[in-house]
Amino acid sequence: MSAGSGEYIAYHAHLMTCRSCYAPTSRYCDVGRDLRLQAEAAFIASLKTLPERRYWRALEEKNHPENMVRLDELIKQKYRGQVNG
Ligand SMILES: [Zn+2]
Repeated sequence: MSAGSGEYIAYHAHLMTCRSCYAPTSRYCDVGRDLRLQAEAAFIASLKTLPERRYWRALEEKNHPENMVRLDELIKQKYRGQVNG
């Protein structure tokens, strides 16, 4: 994940203050889970090449297949935002 993105900063700010989230064991509250996906999607959407985006997406799919519908939606949103803006 790129440390500079606003999504990444928001995710880490949440982790530091939330008592329900514990990243080392992938335990997240609903808010934390979505912030993590936002950060992950921002990172994947920022990658320059399709092979890179596919690689990181596949990694997430392997670890968290249950997140992929939401993640794909977010990647599309963020990718379009970059292309248009
Ligand atoms: Zn949380």
